This record gives sequence, C-alpha cells and structure tokens, in this order.
Amino acid sequence: MNVLIVEDERNLADAICKILKDEGFRADVTYDGTTGLSLGKTGMYDAIVLDVMLPGMDGLDVVRELRRNGISTPILMLTARTSTADKVSGLDAGADDYMTKPFETIELLARIRAVTRRTGDVIIEEATFGDLHLDLTTHDLSCADRSVHLSGKEFEVMKMLMSSNARVVSKQDLLTRVWGAAEASENSVEAYISFLRKKINHIHSKVQITTLRMLGYRLEVIE
Ligand code: CA
Repeated sequence: MNVLIVEDERNLADAICKILKDEGFRADVTYDGTTGLSLGKTGMYDAIVLDVMLPGMDGLDVVRELRRNGISTPILMLTARTSTADKVSGLDAGADDYMTKPFETIELLARIRAVTRRTGDVIIEEATFGDLHLDLTTHDLSCADRSVHLSGKEFEVMKMLMSSNARVVSKQDLLTRVWGAAEASENSVEAYISFLRKKINHIHSKVQITTLRMLGYRLEVIE
C-alpha cells in the first residue's frame, strides 16, 4: 500500500514516513501543499495523510482540488486545531477522517487502515483499460492471449496512464511520479512512451497512447 504524507513539520512528516515503512507500507513525503496536490492528482496513492496548515496551499484547498479532479483517494487530515468547526470543514471539503495532533502512532496506523478499508477495493491486483490488462504483481501487460513484460519504469508509466482512465496525464506528472527526484527530462518520458507503444502494438491491443500537444498523454481505444 502506497501512502502520501503532506506535512510541513519535517520531523513529524519523516517520523510518520518511517512508521509506515516499518509497517510495510510504501510512503512518499512532501512538505508543501502544492506538491502534495500534484502528487495526489496522479491517483497513484492508496491513502493521503494531509496536514491542514501548509505553506503554498492549505490542506483544505488540496482536498477540494483533488476531489474536483475526480481523485477519490482516502484522505486523513491532520490538524493542530481542536475546534469542531475545523474538523467539520475538513470533512466537508472531502476528507475521510481527521486526527488532532499530537497523536499516538498506533492510532494513526489504525486510522489509515480504516480509511483505506472504507474504499472496499484497496488491494487491486490488476489494472484494465479497453482490451489491456496490467498485472500489478508480475508487471505483465496483456491483451487476449498475448502478453509482454514491462520494465520498472515502463510499468510505472503504464500504471499511471491506466489509472487515469482516459484522462490526460501531463509529462510533468509522469516525471514527478515515476522519476521523482532523479535526474530526468521530458525526453525520458517520450522514450518510455515510445517503448510502451511498441509493446502495446506487439500484443495487438486496440488501445493507443495518444499525444496531446503541450498537454500530455492519454489512453484511447481505437476501433
Ligand atoms: Ca503544518
């Protein structure tokens, strides 16, 4: 399970990250709301732990923007405030639950498990789009009885395109999500899109990766 932590108190953010990793989660950390929003919009997370008071963009605006963009990832808000009004506004904005700081580690883990359980289908083992199936365990991409194995980065790019479900994914989002802090340029994204197109062709799928100039990529079914 992949969790995004958006919290500007670095010690707390890093501590939550470590706790989650110790429990076998995958976790990414960002210290500002704007980056949190762009990472959250990739739809690649199973849960988001989001602080309310953040530099750049506050947590409530991040939740609203994510929900407006159709991202339904469960969100657990962290707040230092204790007033009921703040809790209600977090939930109104589209968060699933909130916790008041300071909190016990064990409670945080329990809440994360609870919000992800609520979505019902957290453990997704296969992504599909049109006639394409992507096995999230083996990284095999298949169409009918043909299949091809995807390398690490090819898999991450394909998974992002498939989970965006025909919505446009920008090169910048792909770079942020798949390459993270690593040295990479838009040329890397283009190269991987080209590898993927060859592999999709190879298994005779009707799905194609369409380039939208200046915008990014999306999947389409070509009849
Ligand atoms: Ca804060």
